[in-house]
Amino acid sequence: MLYIVPTPIGNLEDITLRALRVLREEVSVILAEDTRTTRHLLERYDIRTPLRAFHAHNEHAAVDKIVAELAAGATMALVSDAGTPGISDPGFLLVRACRQAGVRVECLPGPTAFVPALVASGVPCDRFHFEGFLPHKKGRQTRLRYLAALPHTFVLYESPHRLLRCLTELTEVCGPGRMACVARELTKVFEEVRTAPLGELLAAFSQREVKGEMVIVVAGREE
Ligand code: SAM
Repeated sequence: MLYIVPTPIGNLEDITLRALRVLREEVSVILAEDTRTTRHLLERYDIRTPLRAFHAHNEHAAVDKIVAELAAGATMALVSDAGTPGISDPGFLLVRACRQAGVRVECLPGPTAFVPALVASGVPCDRFHFEGFLPHKKGRQTRLRYLAALPHTFVLYESPHRLLRCLTELTEVCGPGRMACVARELTKVFEEVRTAPLGELLAAFSQREVKGEMVIVVAGREE
């Protein structure tokens, strides 16, 4: 069987007791996006289960062999560098292949960046669209226009060096008065959750260097 195991997005205490037990006792191999990152987490909890690389560059080639091992009786866990595998991270291809092969898959509930960003933002969270990363070039404007027209909140993942470009484009398509939030460095020492109209966020973040990981939450057209 395959366990999908969410891991902390910053604060290493954000891991469930069950996740630790599965990683420590239930599986023979942990498939990891970056084995060095995961080793750091495992060392913190004194877990010695062997690691194997499984990332965006080898997942297509690796899936068949892994599914064959699982179908033959192995039990493995899949983790990503942070948060929940499959959410803007590798995972979907393996889960689909497991389901097609009749291999049991269980996803443990746990950390993911967009939920705390959305809930802490103060932007309506009763209905929302998760977009993840926008395409960098082709299709970006089409996607932005689609998002701007949504009647409910939408959520983006963004890297710090593209934040200003993203806020500029969002201000253009949604208007400067649309409420939004930049949630930065969640669960870490310098966590910042800033909610304001897009025009104000753009002005504020234009005046300083922005570091760290971030989620952008934007209110829907009708809010
Ligand atoms: N699988 C992860 C999840 O479940 O959220 C997402 C992985 S994706 C490759 C990485 C992106 O998640 C970052 O660029 C950022 O947008 C967001 N992210 C991850 N950790 C974060 C944090 N501590 N604070 C804010 N955003 C974070």
